[in-house]
Amino acid sequence: MEEPKCGKCGGEMERGFVVDNTYGGVARPQWAEGDPDYSIWMGVKMGNRERFTVRTFRCTTCGFLESYALPEAAH
Ligand SMILES: [Zn+2]
Repeated sequence: MEEPKCGKCGGEMERGFVVDNTYGGVARPQWAEGDPDYSIWMGVKMGNRERFTVRTFRCTTCGFLESYALPEAAH
């Protein structure tokens, strides 16, 4: 995908992703459809929901973050 322009100030957006620190490493965040289904035993149950990796652009001028949830092939 093309680098978007900042929706707030029209500045240049740089490609990146929001870092999610997890036990034993860093995971790329994902987006899942629907509402979270909380379980006291397992956290959020994911089941067979469709999931996408989140790509986030950051404006180099004002710092605004804009995220896209796309299938892996589109990154
Ligand atoms: Zn901006």
